[in-house]
Amino acid sequence: MIITIDGPAGSGKSTVARLLAERLQVRFLDTGAMYRAVALAVLNEAIDQHDLSAVAQLVRGVTISFEKERLLLNELDVTSEIRSPEVTAISSVVASNPSVRERLVQLQREVGKHGSMVTEGRDQGTVVFPHAEHKFFVKATLESRAQRRQRELAAKGVDQPISVVMDQLHERDERDETREHAPLKPAENAVVVDTSDLAIAQVVEILLSQIQSSKS
Ligand code: C5P
Repeated sequence: MIITIDGPAGSGKSTVARLLAERLQVRFLDTGAMYRAVALAVLNEAIDQHDLSAVAQLVRGVTISFEKERLLLNELDVTSEIRSPEVTAISSVVASNPSVRERLVQLQREVGKHGSMVTEGRDQGTVVFPHAEHKFFVKATLESRAQRRQRELAAKGVDQPISVVMDQLHERDERDETREHAPLKPAENAVVVDTSDLAIAQVVEILLSQIQSSKS
């Protein structure tokens, strides 16, 4: 069984997907982490993020894998590095490169062959797993997403004004929604959940009850 959760940055989808996978005792795939790993490789190699062919060549030569919840880039654990503001800033540029998407979609489908999982990202229900048994799209207002992101940053000791966080989220959303390949949008048959006024635990319960009710 494949369950897809797509949505914009800061919608809470990562946490929801992780908790849902735990409750269902299936694997969890964070596809954003894979795009972030490519972005980190671009920074490490000092390649121009907009140079389509240089980035395409780079992505063909890297290995990206998961070891439990750790993400390995060329066998090195980069789980923390991929969350840096520098990586976040260029991740959506790198993700608009068709060669990057092609390679990562292939890897994601490979992971999906090995049993049930909850997978989250921007294109999981639309492009990567169009035949998934359950598809969700989580959305929230820009304000509530920015507040959530600001709290996450504060927990890591980073203080950022809400206006800056909002601008960054907005810029990333716009790039993700307007790119030519696999733009961010709900799959036609996705259940859309607005998480603006909901706690994460409530969202998990809504998704679980949807899954259970469609079984009966
Ligand atoms: O979800 P997260 O914020 O970690 O994703 C980082 C970036 O990776 C997103 O802004 C988006 O551009 C890209 N991404 C994507 N397709 C996915 C997952 C993430 O384009 N399935």
